[in-house]
Parts: sequence; structure tokens; C-alpha cells
Amino acid sequence: MGRPKKITPAVEKAPSRLEGSIDLLSEHHSCWNFFVDRLNNLSQTFSYSKLDTPMLEDAKLFKFWTEAGPEQLLFFTDHKGVRMAVKPTNLFGVARAYLEHKFFEREKVTKWFYLSPVAHITSEQKVKQLHEYGFQVFGDTAGIADAQIINLLIRLFKEVGLTGVGLHINNIGCLECRPIFKEVLKNFFKDKKYDLCESCVEYSDSNPLKILACKNLSCNTVIAEAPVGVDYLCENCRRHFIDVLEGLEELNIPFNLNQKVIGYPWSRKTVFELRSQDSNQEIKLGEGGHADDLIQSLGGPATVALGFAGTIQSVLEALELANIKYSSRSKVDVFLVPLGELAAKKTLRLFTDLWNHNIMASEFIGPASIKTQLKLAESNKVSIALIVGQKEARDGTVILRDVRSGMQELFTVERIIEEVKKRLGK
Ligand SMILES: [Zn+2]
Ligand SMILES: [Zn+2]
Repeated sequence: MGRPKKITPAVEKAPSRLEGSIDLLSEHHSCWNFFVDRLNNLSQTFSYSKLDTPMLEDAKLFKFWTEAGPEQLLFFTDHKGVRMAVKPTNLFGVARAYLEHKFFEREKVTKWFYLSPVAHITSEQKVKQLHEYGFQVFGDTAGIADAQIINLLIRLFKEVGLTGVGLHINNIGCLECRPIFKEVLKNFFKDKKYDLCESCVEYSDSNPLKILACKNLSCNTVIAEAPVGVDYLCENCRRHFIDVLEGLEELNIPFNLNQKVIGYPWSRKTVFELRSQDSNQEIKLGEGGHADDLIQSLGGPATVALGFAGTIQSVLEALELANIKYSSRSKVDVFLVPLGELAAKKTLRLFTDLWNHNIMASEFIGPASIKTQLKLAESNKVSIALIVGQKEARDGTVILRDVRSGMQELFTVERIIEEVKKRLGK
């Protein structure tokens, strides 16, 4: 064998990942897989079915989203001139699927959960890619459903170790009562513009609700005196909110009424945020609430829409800050230790035989000393190592070593499977 030919690199420097994107490495996957496992289990308990929608949709679907602020869609125009966009969040594709497959005719209540990458362009003109998961309910639901989805979420976070999750909840009204409160706010902020930040002054006429969410210190002093939205709810919204809060009390879930939680342009009635307080730094895990006019705005029937969306990134960040770690649990039953080329070849057959008997063996990849391989077996918490040296490879035998005690015994290849099974209790 000659030396492999040297290849001239096609690029000056290997490109790095784009700013705003992440690689989910195996250390992330250990806890992420655990989270997804709990997500799947709880979805089953609460009767949510999985839904996957495409990455690209007709850009018109995201009209509501583009009204949300300066963040933009990542879009393309195809050869027919159709403008399509990468989904910035899953909600709209999920709503489109509900309408397109006429779920409103099939069942009274549709409950879906999803898990999918999303992307958009930030106000700083950077592409932001996130892995989003969420729950969505369409159909005939009462205030108790809001309390129940919060119940599910708090349980989900608790099961992965985030026990200090705080609920911040508000009701921003409906198309009937929200304009009245907006007018009240507009009048309130009218003569206070000198104390507000630049963007709040901009919003003071068009969308004074946004001022309530401002984090600026001087704005906060003004906001503290502002009228409270729940005092201006119509009878329908007020009744709904009371049902939600009574449901939460019934479930023993503490909540903070928080006027700063205002949701999105498509939000109606209940809006809520879940925040991890498991470390010194508060992390927003996601947002939820109603989007009751969404299906109608897409041409469908009047449909209650209740949901929640969060990202992998925020869960990982909260777990990291709270110092909650997940080690990847090894599924390996036995460790194969071949010594030399002939032994390596022989263990290929042994690996397959073990696999055929449902015994998971570590896969031998490269040369390493017996000491290194046994150390690896120990750190992987594998109790049995099967050692094949040159002599054993020729004789058709295998050394079985108890990793913890170091006791060794010689077996023929024919007997080794039975012996391993016996020791593993399989
Ligand atoms: Zn209302
Ligand atoms: Zn402000």
C-alpha cells in the first residue's frame, strides 16, 4: 500500500457554523434525548399526537408573524414566482395543516405536539436557527384546558430536573375588549412621553400594549402606575380568566399575574410565560396562550386555539445554569477487547453472534492497548469484557473477564454466548 495522495484543500479555511446556529453535540443529546423521551411520554398521557409540518411554507401563511416586529422571514422565490419562507415558528404550519386536512370536521378537539427546527432573520440581520417543540390544541376547549396545558408543562420540566419553574400569566382580552384597554392606555401615556424610551414613544399611539413589556428602567416607573388590563376585560374574557386561575388553584400551581406578558399580534385572552428559576439567572423556557382568531384569519371556521412553544436551546441553557447533567447511559452489555489483527477479524463474527442474541457489544474500531480498552469498559460501567488475543484467535477461545473483580476464565467460542447470557441474567 502506498501513501494516500495529498489533497489540496478546496477552501482557504474550513467554514465555521453560521452565527446564531448551534451544533447539538453528544453531551447536549444526553439531556436532550431525556427531555424528548419525557415529552413523548407526557404527550401520550395527555393524548397529544405528533405532527410534523414542512420546513418551507407559502410566505403568505406568516402574515401575522411579520406583524410581530422587526424580525424577518427567511424567504425564497421559486421558478414560478411563488414566495416561500422557512417557518419562523411551528404554530402557522400546524394551523395550516389543521385547515388543509379539515380536522375541524373530523373531531371536536385536536391535540398535537411537534418538534422541529425553525429559522428567521433577527433585527440585527443575522439568521437565527432554533429547535422548537410545542403543544397545540384546536377546538372546543374551556378555561380548564389552559390550566391543564400548564400542568403538563410544569410536570415536563420537573421530570428533567427543573423544579423551580415560575408561571407568569396575563389576559390581554379579545378583539372586543382589547381596543378599549388600548384606548385607555393611549390616554394614560399621552402626557408621559418625556419619561418613556424612544421605542415606547413610537408605540404609544399604534400599540401602547407593547410599552407594558418594556424593560427600560425609566419606562418601568411610568408602567407601574399604568391601568391594569384585567380590569377592562369583557364578560366573556373575564369569566374565561377566572376559570383558568381557579383551575390553577385546583392544581396547586402558583402563578404571578404579570401585566408585562403581552404575547404576540395573534395572541388573545390567556398569555403566559414559563421561566426557570433553578439558578441565579432566570431563563424564559417558552410562551403559551390563545390564538383564537388564527384559523378564521386563514379562512377557516371560528376555532379556539391554545398552545405553547419553547426551544431546545432554552432548556439546555436552564439545565446548564442549574448544573443539571445527564450522562449518556451506555447500552453496551459487554466490551470486546481484541489484541492484534487476527483477533480483530475474529471478533467481527463474535460481535454479530452477540448482537443476534440481543447482547450489545462495544464495537472495536482502532488499535488500543488492553489497559486502555479495559479502562474504557470500566468507565462505561460495563461488567464483562471479552478478550481475544492471538492465541485465543487461533484456538477458537475467548477470555471472559469480570471487569470489577478482574477474575478471568477461558471459554470456547461455542460456549461464550451462553455464559455471557447467564452472567447478564438474560
Ligand atoms: Zn374580551
Ligand atoms: Zn420603553
